[in-house]
Amino acid sequence: MRKVVIGSAVICAATACAVAALIVKHRMKKSGRWARAEAIVNDFEEKCATPIGKLRQVADAMMVEMHAGLASEGGSKLKMLISYVDSLPKGDEKGLFYALDLGGTNFRVIRVQLGGKERGVINQEAEEVSIPPHLMVGSSFELFDFIASEVARFVTSESEEYQLPAGRQRELGFTFSFPVRQTSLASGTLIKWTKGFSIEETVGEDVVSELTKAIERQGLDLRVAALVNDTVGTLAGGRYYDNDVVAAVILGTGTNAAYVERAHAIPKWHGLLPKSGEMVINMEWGNFRSSHLPLTEYDLSLDTESLNPGEQIFEKLISGMYLGEILRRVLLSLAEEASFFGDTVPPKLMVPFILRTPHMSSMHLDTSSDLRVVASKLKDILGISNTSFKTRKMIVKLCEIIAKRGARLSAAGIFGILKKQGRDVLATEKQRTVVALDGGLFEHYTTFRKILESTLAEMLGEEAASSVIIKHANDGSGIGAALIAAAHSQYLELDSS
Ligand code: ADP
Ligand code: MG
Repeated sequence: MRKVVIGSAVICAATACAVAALIVKHRMKKSGRWARAEAIVNDFEEKCATPIGKLRQVADAMMVEMHAGLASEGGSKLKMLISYVDSLPKGDEKGLFYALDLGGTNFRVIRVQLGGKERGVINQEAEEVSIPPHLMVGSSFELFDFIASEVARFVTSESEEYQLPAGRQRELGFTFSFPVRQTSLASGTLIKWTKGFSIEETVGEDVVSELTKAIERQGLDLRVAALVNDTVGTLAGGRYYDNDVVAAVILGTGTNAAYVERAHAIPKWHGLLPKSGEMVINMEWGNFRSSHLPLTEYDLSLDTESLNPGEQIFEKLISGMYLGEILRRVLLSLAEEASFFGDTVPPKLMVPFILRTPHMSSMHLDTSSDLRVVASKLKDILGISNTSFKTRKMIVKLCEIIAKRGARLSAAGIFGILKKQGRDVLATEKQRTVVALDGGLFEHYTTFRKILESTLAEMLGEEAASSVIIKHANDGSGIGAALIAAAHSQYLELDSS
């Protein structure tokens, strides 16, 4: 009996020792994991760093590429496309104009009644129509027929508030957010479809004449007066309300910028010099790249595994399509290399693009004391529960690193444009410079937006910053195309005489 007791006591002691050893080992392992995680995050932070000196190099590189792209076709990663928009709305436009905005799964038709300097926009209406998926991959004829029939329906359902002077043709601006080689203000050939559209026969065709033919088939008397990119539309929309708007940037799913250039500073321009002496340039800045960009291994693998490797590198660092995906990639490496979420890698974390930028921004903007938004996003989107506060805090830090890099690089890009325009320094005469910004990322990701604004001010310095304004141009691209149609109306001379 005693023997047994002694024996069991010995066994107990041995077990207690073993358990203690296990806990210690586990603790060490846990702190080792955390140290490993911290090392990964710190290394990432270092590689994402954007000190002001680096931002200046990025801005200068942007300016060099702008020059090269203006000098010759294919001279730069920046296409620097000539928009043929040589007069922007002044705010005194009058009459009824239309816009058609095609750039994704929906298209919009817009009408706007302009009342001149005094009355501005009298009335404005828009209708959104989703495109049946079979038409996105069907025939060109069917797609444009569908669009034209919706335009016709929109026009015929017009109320009496909208008035077209007798004997006049309706005029429409066409925002077409696909790569186009523009040949005049109202013509351009499609280079390729993107965003789920695939209609071989339209590639290489003039999209305005395709649309015009379809409109004629509807028996509608309507002229397509301008073909515009959405950034150019945003610039025009901004200019209508503020005469000092000289550039526009879109930060949404993708990113792009347009700005006003002196026509004689465009060596590749072979047309007549416009009366205004100015020309809007669609930069296609998403394709910018430079050795000064702070690229990490996560960005490189994201690019390699993307649908367009080697392209749109700037876009992959700053736009809404990618920020959440960069975060997912860093989290995955933390899970794999530092057991950040426990002994196994959460399977959902391996799914590309499962973590979207709006998820990231709501985690980043989580102000609750226990970071419960972070916890709920991790659970809902990635199926990860029971995270510690420390872990959640680390994730917020990662959001900050990624958003900060994107926002600061965006600011550097804008600074590059202002420098090209000679508006990065305070002019002797009183001069305001306004940049119109639009897009869901800029609009909703407030931290991103604040960092962008403060970084631009930092780059400009106090004096110059006092004359530069960033303005949110809400949905400028929609009304912008109608305003460009108005600014280039065939009845302008008639109306001014
Ligand atoms: P698009 O660029 O597709 O024409 P938007 O300008 O509306 O459309 O931008 C939509 C994009 O904005 C989304 O794909 C997303 O990346 C980003 N976005 C939208 N809402 C948020 C948000 N709350 N936080 C961060 N990014 C957002
Ligand atoms: Mg858009």
